[in-house]
Amino acid sequence: MKKIDTFRDKGLRSQMVERLMKRDIRDESVLNAMNQVPRHFFLDSAFIDFAYKDNAFPIGSDQTISNPYTVAFQSELLSPKTNDKILEIGTGSGYQTAILCKIGCKVYSIERFKDLFLKAKRNLSDLNCNANLFYGDGYLGLPNYAPFDKIIVTAGASKVPFSLKEQLKVGGILVIPVGVKVQKMTVILKTGDDSYEILSEYNDFKFVPFLRDKK
Ligand code: SAH
Repeated sequence: MKKIDTFRDKGLRSQMVERLMKRDIRDESVLNAMNQVPRHFFLDSAFIDFAYKDNAFPIGSDQTISNPYTVAFQSELLSPKTNDKILEIGTGSGYQTAILCKIGCKVYSIERFKDLFLKAKRNLSDLNCNANLFYGDGYLGLPNYAPFDKIIVTAGASKVPFSLKEQLKVGGILVIPVGVKVQKMTVILKTGDDSYEILSEYNDFKFVPFLRDKK
């Protein structure tokens, strides 16, 4: 079925962006990208009418697309710039991937569920987003493509995997929700070849778990 982005969709999307601004999202490139990328393309047909509500929705394989505020907040912490080389762990629907692509980043994204990986691949190619998508266990990162300017994890990690910190460039940052039932959004800076610093932490996020191995 061909996906259509109507005037109504565009209107709902700009209202969503206004709500994000009211909640203190300030990064212009993130707001612009979220105004342009049709979130409804990433949802199953049962949820399309609700695509611009501030909710997470099921995307299959027991996983969810993050709510728009969480996508905006994580993206802003990443401070994405054109040509940044970014690794995303947890492609899910591909929506976060599409936002980073729209900003002009070179995105590498990994998903552990084959079905989601395949669906995200279709969704992203429909939007001419040429992210590099991988099916596998993101716990290990992508050593063959490292180092990265920035790494974003979109599932809740019980601890920060060393392999991800290691795959940052010096001066690079990792944005990762850390915790079991609830997570602290944590921003880590790589300060030297073997040194890291926690830059900031924000309470009370709820993500699906970051799990080992692929499915
Ligand atoms: N960024 C996604 C969020 C999806 S939810 C979106 O915008 O839709 C988090 C995703 O992380 C899920 O799809 C889950 O399967 C995936 N995930 C969890 N652990 C993983 C791992 N070790 N490697 C790769 N993906 C993982």
